[in-house]
Amino acid sequence: MQLEEIIAKLGLENSHLADGDLAVVSPINGAVIGRVNSSSARQIEKAIAAASLAFEQWRSVPAPKRGDVIRVFGDSLRKHKEPLGALVTLETGKIQQEGLGEVQEMIDICDFAVGLSRQLYGRVIASERFEHRMSETWHPIGPIGIISAFNFPVAVWCWNTALAVVCGNSVIWKPSEKTPITALACHKIFSEAMEQVGDIPGGLSQLIIGDAEIGAQLVADNRVPVISATGSTAMGREVGPVVAARFGRSILELGGNNAVIVTSSANLDMAVRAILFGAVGTAGQRCTSTRRLFAHEEIYDRLVQALKNAYRNIRIDNPIHENALVGPLINGQAFDTMQKALDKAAADGCDITGGERVLEDEYPDAYYVRPALVEVRTFEQTVQNETFAPILYIYPYRELQEAIRLHNDVPQGLSSAIFTNDIREAEQFTSSVGSDCGIANVNIGTSGAEIGGAFGGEKETGGGRESGSDAWKGYMRRATSTVNYSAELPLAQGIEFNL
Ligand code: NAD
Repeated sequence: MQLEEIIAKLGLENSHLADGDLAVVSPINGAVIGRVNSSSARQIEKAIAAASLAFEQWRSVPAPKRGDVIRVFGDSLRKHKEPLGALVTLETGKIQQEGLGEVQEMIDICDFAVGLSRQLYGRVIASERFEHRMSETWHPIGPIGIISAFNFPVAVWCWNTALAVVCGNSVIWKPSEKTPITALACHKIFSEAMEQVGDIPGGLSQLIIGDAEIGAQLVADNRVPVISATGSTAMGREVGPVVAARFGRSILELGGNNAVIVTSSANLDMAVRAILFGAVGTAGQRCTSTRRLFAHEEIYDRLVQALKNAYRNIRIDNPIHENALVGPLINGQAFDTMQKALDKAAADGCDITGGERVLEDEYPDAYYVRPALVEVRTFEQTVQNETFAPILYIYPYRELQEAIRLHNDVPQGLSSAIFTNDIREAEQFTSSVGSDCGIANVNIGTSGAEIGGAFGGEKETGGGRESGSDAWKGYMRRATSTVNYSAELPLAQGIEFNL
């Protein structure tokens, strides 16, 4: 689908994409596909004020009614899945299947949120006092600030928005400066869903556009009690302290350095397929991409050979083409960072397969690379930082405990997996002394989480949780209420306080 057709199908105004200050570059060929306007400080101020006003009304709407807007929005996403998925491909360079998959993730979380709108359960707690009832309830908290990264330009916003809105909050979204057109499209679809449902405070969903500086204004604002920020650990290091200093709450979803352990009992065919999808899918630009592999020495050679064969057959191509499995990196800077990491690996004596630029003649202004395998022969530590590119570092191991120690010996803690047919190894990996990540899988790769579970990670990944399970509690405030229906005034802990 061409840009003009996508824009027409999504009903976007060409004039909004024609002459703004922010050029949007498609990583597919390096062409400018639009120029959008960054928000001014005054526009951000107005957006936050409008969201605050909308919150005052929205928090009193019964939660199942709030679910209506998300149900209609989800239905509309089903209708717009093809063009929106195609726009994700154009703006991020993801292959079509992954662009569509991202929109499906939005649809899934809408379904989840609609059900949730009838299940925002509190609890009744046994009181120690006679004829007293103690309970815990969850209330809307205020406008939620959402900052999102380029690599999941629409799903992450939707995870946050679908939950925040059924929880009774308004939202203010600052998408990545690299992907503002998908944001404009989502905002439009959401606004139409609000109109269709009717009687919804107009300021419920706000969009502000621009770079880190624009995001910083949102982060610093006292009227925004929760900032949900997805991006690099460097971004989290800046955002977290600012929110904490004003006693706000942050949900931080930051970088990963995810690993797979393959034991001697593993089904190697399954392992190879999962590692391949995890390491080269989205050109290694997922927070959950597989970046490290620990292979038991008994199967090391077979596994590495199978991976080399598989890597040889990967189709690297323009992601619009039906057969492409790996599209481009986001830009030249990402390419340079990848090359620096490979140079360092070479200097450290590692064996490197792949990693070079390809399709340069066809796409001189885009950065397609062959995914790289890095065999690390001697090591004391494993690679400590996230390079947002398709590099897989491979380490041999002998004892599982040693592999788990090395697996955990990194600053990040997002996703992890073990491939094994030994129940003791599987249980050890998922136990309290196993993987220290927020996601620990068995016989499934590190990427491609379902929306039903809580998503997020520990350590420098930020500790935030989004999406399923009870992540909704992050968008609400908790109140504990004790009601005395006796005619006495007994004090807690049996304290006597008589005149
Ligand atoms: P980035 O950190 O460069 O930018 C992310 C967002 O933060 C952008 O919208 C940016 O404008 C904004 N931002 C940056 N500094 C800011 C500041 N000081 N104040 C306010 N806003 C600021 O990340 P990116 O390159 O867009 O995305 C890639 C990174 O995101 C990777 O590290 C990846 O692992 C991570 N990521 C994490 C998750 C997760 O759920 N854990 C999901 C997707 C991406």
